[in-house]
Amino acid sequence: MSGGDLLTRHQAALARCRRCAGMQGRPVLGGAVASKVLLVGQAPGSKELIVRRPFAWTAGKTLFGWFEAIGLAEDALRTRVYMAAVCRCFPGKNPAGGDRVPSPREIANCAPWLEAELRLLRPELVIPVGRLAITRFVRVERLDTVIGKSFRMRLEDVDTDLIPLPHPSGASTWHKAEPGRTLLAQALELIRAHPAWQALVAPAPAATDVRCTRDDLSAAPRTKRAPRR
Ligand code: SF4
Repeated sequence: MSGGDLLTRHQAALARCRRCAGMQGRPVLGGAVASKVLLVGQAPGSKELIVRRPFAWTAGKTLFGWFEAIGLAEDALRTRVYMAAVCRCFPGKNPAGGDRVPSPREIANCAPWLEAELRLLRPELVIPVGRLAITRFVRVERLDTVIGKSFRMRLEDVDTDLIPLPHPSGASTWHKAEPGRTLLAQALELIRAHPAWQALVAPAPAATDVRCTRDDLSAAPRTKRAPRR
């Protein structure tokens, strides 16, 4: 079975998950994109639950604006980056305002889905968005100790770079004032310069109408395939 088939099968199983009684509706998933860049959000909101796409509302607009500034607009990003989350279901509203933060039990319930994606995709770059997602990988005392930095880590036997971003929610002022504004710019520059991001941004080679004959093919030198990591 190919990697793409495995990913599609993984998402089909994830879409059927009902492990958390306190979550509302069905899991919200991005596309089955076999990407070397993995974005990890926190949990979908009420609008994403209806639209059925991660980051589909106001926070998403801000997030996609950040990514567009470093070379990938929303449509391209949704088809070239795998979008995961700490929890894939809408936790419901917090009576005190905003969305309910998923419980430790719900986060633990959902962790195996993300771990499976790390093993399937073997990402070269992981971008956790927001404190809850960043905490899934590194200890966060304050956002300004982790935003603007790159962490080399081993996740599910995969060596990867982790570059955290703050949550783009309109309710958060962290990224709009200093030092958040400067640290966000540093984090985006780290992502922009990362080889895995550069590979996504690079334009596809122009199609050429080259027709090979059987003789051309048999004369072509055989290239040795590099071993997979
Ligand atoms: S939050 Fe995750 S583990 Fe819980 S029901 Fe949704 S998909 Fe399943």
